[in-house]
Amino acid sequence: MKKKIAELNKKLFLYLSLVGLVVSSSFAIAQNRLAIEEVKDGLHMITGPGGNIGVRVTSEGVILIDDKFPQDFDEIQSLVATVSNLPVRYVVNTHHHGDHSGSNPGFLPIAEVIAHKNARENMIRGNQDGLPRVVYSNETSVFLGGIEVQVFHLGRGHTNGDSVVYFPDLKTVHGGDLLHGIAPFIDYGNGGTSRGWVGTMNNILSLDFDTAIPGHGAIMNRRDVLNFRNQMEAVRHRMANLIRNGLDAVDAPEEIRDGNLSWTQAENGLFMQRSIPGFYEEISAELD
Ligand SMILES: [Zn+2]
Repeated sequence: MKKKIAELNKKLFLYLSLVGLVVSSSFAIAQNRLAIEEVKDGLHMITGPGGNIGVRVTSEGVILIDDKFPQDFDEIQSLVATVSNLPVRYVVNTHHHGDHSGSNPGFLPIAEVIAHKNARENMIRGNQDGLPRVVYSNETSVFLGGIEVQVFHLGRGHTNGDSVVYFPDLKTVHGGDLLHGIAPFIDYGNGGTSRGWVGTMNNILSLDFDTAIPGHGAIMNRRDVLNFRNQMEAVRHRMANLIRNGLDAVDAPEEIRDGNLSWTQAENGLFMQRSIPGFYEEISAELD
């Protein structure tokens, strides 16, 4: 009998803690737009609206990869404080888009912001606030707390100023919007190119990694990154074949759809909405 009561109490306790957990987590969702999750020991990811943030914790401070929108600064800071009691010392912008560099003005007084030189030029042209104080051309590194974070420009793709951030000790990359969980956007107005993107993907795949943080969407493994590269190539071939068969630019958004290509099925995605006119022109020029 005693055992049964103990068993019952245990069940009741479990039930109550589950209820408590559900109540507190839905409360958290109502209060906060962003969330933090562990990627690997010492590396976290902040999700929610805007680009995924990489949070690299070291014994001398925190290195952020991207910083979402301007209104996210306070919430980013409080989420970082849940995984480190040290300040953010460096922010790397993977590119200039405002959902990846929006909190630069908040971080500049307390940290160094680093970006590719073309990303900084794109920010100036776009009248964006919070210009990085440090730029690089081909590659650079941040050394902090005995940890090296490598930053590479591996070629054009999403824009002409994309950075890939590599954490060699964790065999993990942050690909910015060169990696996208749903469908990519080729920003032709800022030097984006699908042809360059394939080459850049090959360069990313030459790095020794097993885990990748995409600019948007869930954490990827190496196979996911390879699939992304292959889909870019497949979409390029499909567009080339359609153009060879006389496709008109106005029909491109409709005709590019293909059941085997998830990007062309994501109707509301940036790939379909904003990349297609430039994509048609890019592939047409290649065929000339
Ligand atoms: Zn972007």
